[in-house]
Amino acid sequence: MSRYWSSVVHRIVPYTPGEQPKLTNLIKLNTNENPYGPSPKVLEAVKAEAADTLRLYPDPNSDRVRAAVAAYYGLTLSQVFAGNGSDEVLAFAFLALLKHEEPLLFPDITYSFYPVYCRVYEVNYETVPVTGDLAIRLEDYLRPNGGIVFPNPNAPTGRSVALSEIRELLEKNTESVVVIDEAYVDFGAESAVTLIDRYPNLLVVQTLSKARSLAGLRVGFAMGHPLLIEALDRVKNSFNSYPLDRFAIAGAVAALEDRGYFEETRDRIVRTRETLVGKLRELGFDVLPSAANFIFARHPGMDAVELARRLRERSIIVRHFPLPRIEQYLRITVGTDEQCGILASSLAEILEPSFAGKSRSRS
Ligand SMILES: *Cc1c(COP(=O)(O)O)cnc(C)c1O
Repeated sequence: MSRYWSSVVHRIVPYTPGEQPKLTNLIKLNTNENPYGPSPKVLEAVKAEAADTLRLYPDPNSDRVRAAVAAYYGLTLSQVFAGNGSDEVLAFAFLALLKHEEPLLFPDITYSFYPVYCRVYEVNYETVPVTGDLAIRLEDYLRPNGGIVFPNPNAPTGRSVALSEIRELLEKNTESVVVIDEAYVDFGAESAVTLIDRYPNLLVVQTLSKARSLAGLRVGFAMGHPLLIEALDRVKNSFNSYPLDRFAIAGAVAALEDRGYFEETRDRIVRTRETLVGKLRELGFDVLPSAANFIFARHPGMDAVELARRLRERSIIVRHFPLPRIEQYLRITVGTDEQCGILASSLAEILEPSFAGKSRSRS
């Protein structure tokens, strides 16, 4: 605390990102990064940008990135906004589209950045409880609101909602903007991008950080009606005219164009996830159905903090959220087959005392 701080600094509660340890040779399954590197074509494109042209400002509107997104999803340039990671795109959306007299609605269990944006921008909000099995029930959002935002699949649960339910929400909720944060959509949910032409209040936000393995490049984008995009542009141009640098623009375009690499690595992660879910269930975990590149699971026989601590002793890091309703769960990022194999065998060792009887009778 300092008397030099503006009052807003006293009020805000910053987001705590997952740990980025300095140690190497850890099995890092805590921040949903992709275990496979980006496409070789991305690396080539980024290297080519290390040139004399770095003295020049980049394109303020990232038109090449917007055109690549538009081509990928069959949209027009005016329906796409690009920003410095989807966190920035979401931050702009909170200020540009979700701050109204009626409260913004989002799930009580969700991406913990949402309440952070609400505090910094003084957005009035209310959380809507997820069901007993941690699912989002969109009927519960049919009440007066100044906007609705939720991730699909949700974080950190990994559970998805069907496109038909989203369409039903949009049919009934026409007076405020609905933002769908599709950070993990490629791993198993249906994108709402196909609904953009029909619903002028729908904004879909995506990122290259997860399925395209570019968390380090910081590229996110939003898709929606041109008037929603214009609102984001107005806010962007009141903060920073050049949110995407030359490396980000070149890398993003190459990533969006290399569909083959994207699909292959994405499919590999989905297969590894299904294997890992099976192994965790065999070990006695309750595992939520995951449509993402992470698994949300709890073990009835061991406290989650203790389990995370014991994994850490074995150089494996996973994420724990000390929050009501989910404090017994661990969020485990899907790594490579090898990493997930080591995770599963470490968990078997840790849980051995409670499973000794079972494994003995099995062998
Ligand atoms: C990872 C994540 C983001 C942020 O992605 P960036 O593009 O890296 O900023 C946004 N929303 C959710 C739900 C996420 O998990």
